[in-house]
Amino acid sequence: MSGLDDLTHDIKLVRISPVDGSPLLFTAGQYAQVGFDGVPARSYSMANRHGDDSLEFHIRKVPGGVTSQHVHEALKAGDKLTLEFPLGSSYLRQHHSGPILCIAGGSGLAPIKSIVETALAHGMKQPIHVYFGARGARDLYLVEHFETLADRHNNLSFTAVLSDTQVAPHRHGFVTDAVAEDLADFDGWKAYVAGPPPMVDAAMAMAFARGLRPEDMHADVFFTPEGQEG
Ligand SMILES: Cc1cc2nc3c(=O)[nH]c(=O)nc-3n(C[C@H](O)[C@H](O)[C@H](O)COP(=O)(O)OP(=O)(O)OC[C@H]3O[C@@H](n4cnc5c(N)ncnc54)[C@H](O)[C@@H]3O)c2cc1C
Repeated sequence: MSGLDDLTHDIKLVRISPVDGSPLLFTAGQYAQVGFDGVPARSYSMANRHGDDSLEFHIRKVPGGVTSQHVHEALKAGDKLTLEFPLGSSYLRQHHSGPILCIAGGSGLAPIKSIVETALAHGMKQPIHVYFGARGARDLYLVEHFETLADRHNNLSFTAVLSDTQVAPHRHGFVTDAVAEDLADFDGWKAYVAGPPPMVDAAMAMAFARGLRPEDMHADVFFTPEGQEG
């Protein structure tokens, strides 16, 4: 593992470089099963683009969570990890030419970052709307990064939505309500959604009610069922 940084009070950026220099092949939106010493392996989504020489993960500390707590309290640069990847089917469909809706909750921004950066790098020109839901201002991260991308790319919009507090210039309320206020019809769109179970459920219900076709929903629920030992 090559580096560890704070993104927020409870989300760490973990960078992993392969010791043998093997190629890091994956499609934006996929995840890896990451094995740490002494705790169960868990799934974490790649936040960077395919082709970089390391993998970037955003790992939120889940209260009482065995592995995420280990990452936050014991993991050190230089520790050896195991990786099984690429996994998952919620990856960017590069041949889709219709509009794209991305909804992230908390560390769900990781796969959305990879998807958006890859879509822009591939010259995808359709509208891409990114909504990032968090509780309060201290839970936001990479806002400047996405705002800079949106300044550079006319087809990209980025909206941060805070559920617990009203902090200008961000929107206030549930992220899925903000999407529903802004956008009425998702027929012909693709949606990429990542985050905690209640947010993913709400996002799916909202998008299907506005005409998104089931095959155009690509969602990852950030949850490991009780008792899964990796
Ligand atoms: C496809 C996929 C991709 C994922 N990508 C990421 C990612 O990029 N970043 C990231 O931070 N996490 C991600 N996760 C979640 C991650 O795999 C773990 O579930 C999470 O880190 C908790 O593991 P833990 O061992 O700390 O908690 P555990 O010890 O497994 O759980 C402790 C308690 O918390 C509950 N719990 C488990 N997960 C959550 C949760 N997410 N929110 C609230 N309560 C929970 C459990 O039911 C249990 O009661 C992803 C999950 C999946 C399935």
